[in-house]
Order: sequence, then structure tokens, then C-alpha cells
Amino acid sequence: MNNKMWRLGVPRALFYYYYGPWWEIFFETLGIEVIVSPPTYREIMDLGVSLAVAEACLPVKAYYGHAAWLASRVDALLVPRLVSVERKSYICPKLMGLPDMLRATLKPCPQIIDTTVNLARRPEEGLAAAVQGMARAIGVRGHRVELAKAAAEARYRSWTCERWGDTKGLETGNTDQAGERRYALPVGVIGHGYLLYDRYLGMDIPGKVAALGGQVILPENIDPQEVEKACRQLPKRLYWTLGRKIIGTALYLMEQEKVAGLIHLTAFGCGPDSLVGDLAERYARRRGKPFLLLTLDEHTGEAGLNTRLEAFMDMLYRRRSA
Ligand code: SF4
Repeated sequence: MNNKMWRLGVPRALFYYYYGPWWEIFFETLGIEVIVSPPTYREIMDLGVSLAVAEACLPVKAYYGHAAWLASRVDALLVPRLVSVERKSYICPKLMGLPDMLRATLKPCPQIIDTTVNLARRPEEGLAAAVQGMARAIGVRGHRVELAKAAAEARYRSWTCERWGDTKGLETGNTDQAGERRYALPVGVIGHGYLLYDRYLGMDIPGKVAALGGQVILPENIDPQEVEKACRQLPKRLYWTLGRKIIGTALYLMEQEKVAGLIHLTAFGCGPDSLVGDLAERYARRRGKPFLLLTLDEHTGEAGLNTRLEAFMDMLYRRRSA
């Protein structure tokens, strides 16, 4: 197969917000033209809503929209079957079934590269198998695969560094242009990356909090070791990678006196979120840390959400100045 002819579509949704640059560089180094769908906008969301089953969570609906946007523009879609991205932890089952759900829905449907990614038992071997599997799907083998993997890893490291700094969020979060108020009011904004960093889907909550004078602290700003340590407070280990990251960040931030409050962004229809959100809220209540739960779906009105956010930030300021 002449892979130079290929255009590979990567939906800008779900785990794109965690691994997108890795995938792009890997395939581009192997001579594939990578086309990433544009940032979510109304038509993409409407397309996703029209294709997905009503019970699907908001991010999965958005994923359908991105995949459908790409379907007629590419030769193949990259939809890895994500089972696990770290030892003894798992990704939400909805993501395992994505390739099958898309095949059954997109008409016509381009080829789908659905390499399984399962790092739960032996992470290194699992990663090597996933990388080889993705390369094999486009007809590439041998040392070129290792070179592409090295290039992807290097780019991924610099991307995470550029984006999240050195993971010391409490010191280096959104330092400001707008005066002392920001410095005075660090606020944790937690949730799935594909909600927090998709400005349309997540209604740019981090940006709104910053505009209201908050110093935004995101899950990716916190040292992963601190997150894991905080998770040990739970009576049982959580097996969802993202759920653990969210609750661990919440527990860590609750212990930081200078954090004024927490905002948890969740998706309607998300099973893990309903558990993690409830847990986080209970812990916050016990510890007296103000907590705002915002649940989004495709019908959420921005005006109502802005009002709740403003009221919460006002309450935080009043508490601080009392
Ligand atoms: S974790 Fe929740 S938001 Fe994410 S894909 Fe699963 S159900 Fe959807």
C-alpha cells in the first residue's frame, strides 16, 4: 500500500485532548497526511447529536460529529480502541466500543484504524504492541516505526511542557495581567480534559473563571504523584484513569488552604462522573471547601451557567474578605 496517498482523519474530541500531538507526529513521520477536524462548533455538535444514541454522554456525541465531519474528507479514521493507558487502570467502556459504534453509524464509513491500546498489565509491552499495530494498519513495519515513535514521544514531551508547565500549578497557574484579585483567589477547575479544553463543549469554563479574576488550577497543573497520594484517602482504589485523576486533584486541592473553592465540570450521561462528582462534593462539604458542580449537555444554556459561575465567584470573594 502506498501510504503517501493516505489522508488519515483524527477527530478532535475525547482523547485527542490527551494524545493528539503524539498521534499526529507519529503518522506524519511515517509519511501520512494527517487531517484533524476543526475545534468543535455548532454544526459539528448538531451532527454528533443527530447520529449518536440519545443516552450517549456529551463528549461521545461530539466525537460522532467530528468523525462524521472527517468521514468524506479522508481515506481512514484513527479511532483507537482504548482499554487502558496505564497499569491496573481502565478507560471508560464507552471508548472501547467507539470503533464499532462508528462503523454501525457512519454511512459511508471510511476504513477505521482501531488498534487496541491496553497498558493495564504490562505497560511497556502494551504500548509497543499498540504502536506496531497502528503502523501495521497503514502497511509500515521495521525501524521506521521506532523512529516515528521516538519523534512522537519527543513532541509529546515538549507539548505537555509548553501546555502545562512543570506541573506545579499552585505556584505557576494562570499568573495574571489583571491585578491582585487573581493572585488572591486560586480556584480549582476539574473535569475531563475533553470538556475543560474543548471551548465549545465545556463553554470555556476555565477562561470564564480567569475572566472573573480567578487563578485557574487545572488537573494537569498538579504533579501526578500528588494526585495519586491524595487518592489514597479513598477507602477503595478507583480503577478509572480519568476518574482517579479528577478525584485525586480535588482531594489534593481541598487540602490547600489557599485554594478558595472548586468547580467540577461534568458531562450529562457520564456514569463515572456521577460517582466521582458525588464523592468530590461529599469530601468538599466535610472539609468546608466551596464546591460548584456544573453538568453540561447539548441543551445547557450559557446565560444560566454564567450566572451560576458569577454567583459562585462572588461568594468566594466574600468568604475571603470576611
Ligand atoms: S468517562 Fe464519562 S464523559 Fe468520558 S466517555 Fe465515559 S461516559 Fe463519556
